[in-house]
Amino acid sequence: HVAGLDKGKGLYFLFVKSETRTPGGLLARPVLTSYYKSDHFKTRLYDPYNVYTSPNEAILCPDSFQSMYTQMLCGLLDRHQVLRLGVVFASGLLRAIRFLQLNWRQLAHDMETGSLNSKITDPSLRECIVKTLKPNPELAQFVRHECSKDDWEGIIVRIWPNTKYLDVIVTGAMAQYIPTLDYYSGGLPLACTMYASSECYFGLNLNPMCKPSEVSYTIMPNMAYFEFLPHEPNLDSTSFDFTHELPPKLVDLMDVEVGKEYELVITTYAGLCRYRVGDILRVTGFHNSAPQFHFIRRKNVLLSIDSDKTDEAELQTAVENASHLLREHNASVVEYTSHADTKTIPGHYVVYWELLVKDSTNSPDNDTLEQCCLAMEESLNSVYRQGRVADNSIGPLEIRVVKNGTFEELMDYAISRGASINQYKVPRCVNFTPIMELLDSRVVSAHFSPDLPHWSPERSQ
Ligand code: AMP
Repeated sequence: HVAGLDKGKGLYFLFVKSETRTPGGLLARPVLTSYYKSDHFKTRLYDPYNVYTSPNEAILCPDSFQSMYTQMLCGLLDRHQVLRLGVVFASGLLRAIRFLQLNWRQLAHDMETGSLNSKITDPSLRECIVKTLKPNPELAQFVRHECSKDDWEGIIVRIWPNTKYLDVIVTGAMAQYIPTLDYYSGGLPLACTMYASSECYFGLNLNPMCKPSEVSYTIMPNMAYFEFLPHEPNLDSTSFDFTHELPPKLVDLMDVEVGKEYELVITTYAGLCRYRVGDILRVTGFHNSAPQFHFIRRKNVLLSIDSDKTDEAELQTAVENASHLLREHNASVVEYTSHADTKTIPGHYVVYWELLVKDSTNSPDNDTLEQCCLAMEESLNSVYRQGRVADNSIGPLEIRVVKNGTFEELMDYAISRGASINQYKVPRCVNFTPIMELLDSRVVSAHFSPDLPHWSPERSQ
């Protein structure tokens, strides 16, 4: 689809994540970590279309700072040869840009002197980079010149002028990052090539240079046994249990109908049987007999910044746990809603709280509300906490306390737009601009998590 990709390199920011063991002793890790650690990847044959700027040592380094630092350094050293930039999910590319914003001075210093930052301590990684790093004051000067400007618009094409496109997934939850990517890349094409999960590879985009809104993934029928559960868009909360209820009518791969929505159900070679992935897809057409799908969304996911997926029940538990800290102030949370704020890099969760304060002389202070932020983070799942602690891909959670009566105003607004009073439920996540504006205009104070929550690779829960 893009000519000449064999004449240069790809700057791909690729990372391994830490592994855990199941109680039965099996290794558990994300699929890409398995792949990068496999001989398939490590001893791959030379392929002119897949030459990466990042050495294996950098990709395989478990320390996310050292890995990112050296991948960025190598990308800068090879800047004229880079023809495409890639990461798995869009959030990762923004993280890389933020990293450059924070570290360009040190990177330029390394280029100027030809000596490597002492924070790179992994022996094999150090040895590998030191071999290629030579003093290059001209490049250092260029990096300083570009990065010290206040305006970072188009920074990607300024630094890597031969980039033809960004290889990055921007469908589903990642669509929220498109405007920011466009800003930093000067509007380079975005190629979404694959639709996959740790459980199974699902499909490919056969027209990778199409607009993000038009992306369809063609299911690869040989990857698993695919079945589809017809999805009623308004019945998200209905659940069934294959063992206790009559099995619903599952539709086979070839029998799905164009325009209809389905939930994906897979039976895999590894042994998952009729496993509900949790993704909702809409059929857009067929390639031969294989259906093509538009990714609609993940079921029940309220908040997502990176690979974290927080559902309504988890958010509810987190709010409940945190609100215990308000007891000593004789206060409680009367209503709440949330928003994934991706205006900052990394993005962070914002939770709006309306409080009932019974004793105004003892209302919750900043310290208490900060501790509430941390308590919420401690309650969220391990993928969220890993993003906070190990990957630095999610920023501190924020609580915005809103004025009394704000949630009633929110309801009035919804009713004025046609919602029924009887059926109205407080949305637990908001994205609609007028509602965000209403909430933000009623904020009385904002509080951020003061610390990192607990997370360790050994603890998978
Ligand atoms: P994981 O199992 O953590 O690797 O995540 C897999 C999930 O990521 C999928 O079930 C989807 O919800 C999401 N995902 C993967 N690829 C895409 C894509 N191309 N577009 C949108 N969402 C995706």
